[in-house]
Amino acid sequence: MVTTRIPLIAGNWKMNLDHLQAIATVQKLAWTLRDKGHPFSEVEVAVFPPFTDLRSVQTLVGADSLDVRYGGQDLSEHDGGAYTGEISGQFLAKLDCHYVIVGHSERREYHHEDDGVVARKTAAALKHGVTPVVCVGETAADLEEHGASAVPVGQLKAVLDAVDAASDIVVAYEPVWAIGSGQAATPEQAQQVCQALRATLAEAWGDEAAARTRILYGGSVKSSNIAGFMAQKDVDGALVGGASLDPEEFAAIARFR
Ligand code: PGA
Repeated sequence: MVTTRIPLIAGNWKMNLDHLQAIATVQKLAWTLRDKGHPFSEVEVAVFPPFTDLRSVQTLVGADSLDVRYGGQDLSEHDGGAYTGEISGQFLAKLDCHYVIVGHSERREYHHEDDGVVARKTAAALKHGVTPVVCVGETAADLEEHGASAVPVGQLKAVLDAVDAASDIVVAYEPVWAIGSGQAATPEQAQQVCQALRATLAEAWGDEAAARTRILYGGSVKSSNIAGFMAQKDVDGALVGGASLDPEEFAAIARFR
């Protein structure tokens, strides 16, 4: 069985860039990629703007047939109703969102999202045909206490046990201590945990699912360190925060080869 996993370079803008800035950023990103002859079929590029930008990004990407995918940074576990401030997966699907980030460590920390919530949000995304990018990762304290793999593996298991094994998901390994710190994991550290996550996928969902599911590394990725991560056997792309706000730098990350 030969399975090719198309690398995914994903940019999590967090609470940055309003809808006007989003238009300028996506335009610049798409032009830079086009200019450099970026092969979208070989390396997929996606951005995750704030909710208020998504309609503008949809219009731009649709009108110019840009080779950039996009998605939400979060979604509600509910489909609709009296949940003030929440955004349903069906709204994201209506905006042609290809992806949605689920369980980012900032959601887990500031919004107290536990493994149960993350599993239900993953199921909600799948229900509406939006591919979840499920984030897992250990804090510095977890690393000291349990080593690198135990916490992310446990977080992934909670999701895999709750949704169908045939589901299309993306997993993002993001050590919390590496996010926004400028202190990325080493490629070897990333590989070690991504390998453990793939073994977890194989155990829960079978070898075929483990072979087809993309696992990204995230945490202080930039154009100067991306090649080392992409050279690892079990790293299929990156989830990039700060460096994704600069379209030229982000395009350079997407040209990791
Ligand atoms: P960073 O963020 O690239 O700024 O470290 C990564 C993330 O939070 O997804």
